Amino acid sequence: MGLLTGKNALITGATRGIGLAIARDMANEGANIAFAYVSSDDKAQALVKELENTGVKAKAFKADVSDMASVTDMVQSTVKEFGSIDILVNNAGITRDGLIMRMDEIQWDTVIDTNLKSAFNCIKACSTVMMKQRKGSIVTISSVSGIHGNAGQANYSASKAGLVGLAKSVAKELASRGIRSNVVAPGFVLTEMTESLPQEKLEQWCKSIPLGRGATTQEIAKAVTFLASDQSSYITGQVLSVDGGMGM
Ligand code: NAP
Repeated sequence: MGLLTGKNALITGATRGIGLAIARDMANEGANIAFAYVSSDDKAQALVKELENTGVKAKAFKADVSDMASVTDMVQSTVKEFGSIDILVNNAGITRDGLIMRMDEIQWDTVIDTNLKSAFNCIKACSTVMMKQRKGSIVTISSVSGIHGNAGQANYSASKAGLVGLAKSVAKELASRGIRSNVVAPGFVLTEMTESLPQEKLEQWCKSIPLGRGATTQEIAKAVTFLASDQSSYITGQVLSVDGGMGM
């Protein structure tokens, strides 16, 4: 029996990177997986097949999570299909980097809407379901940039810091209903995006990490699965940094 056997999880942004690793790890632990994506149709269909082949149910939703109506439809369809939502993972996120002097309103709004408003939308829609069940676990993906800030990422860092405040407030509001809310804050993660960076730049980053390397997406996924599972049943309102000691 897996850590999540019999549970239903909704993950935003599972077609690539960290979200994909979370979907695979949670399915491996026995959870049925519903996930949102915006553009990667082929990857979404391939993931549904891959997850079903492991013996769990899987459902893909082409839904922009910054849009409340799309999120409400997705949550209602997931409940219809699976019967409940036990786990919500707010993972979908984007960057539109630039120095504050040059950052325009669109760069700011797009990042805040996709990274922060999306989590509000998903938590609001799922908390109604979880409150009726009187149980649920919400895991939100922030970033080391949300805790320490990062030059050139004022919009992204603000969205990621906002997620911490959102997740902690929700933890306080919903604890009495058996719902937990926690945050995972990754540091530097090896994804498709970082693989294409110059070796020199990678080495420079790794020097600033006490463990001397970036995280694999699986290492982030393991922390998320732990916080989603009953193994962390007495943990709520916490930020778990998975950053190789970068934030020490
Ligand atoms: P990624 O590879 O760029 O994947 C992003 C995922 O989000 C994709 O599945 C994408 O779907 C989906 N998505 C984007 N906008 C969406 C929207 N409006 N509605 C629904 N889905 C949407 O991202 P990642 O690098 O794995 O990062 C995942 C999370 O970890 C993000 O929140 C990021 O901020 C955080 N994080 C990442 C790092 C890192 O080093 N990578 C470090 C710290 C924190 P499509 O494929 O359809 O576009």
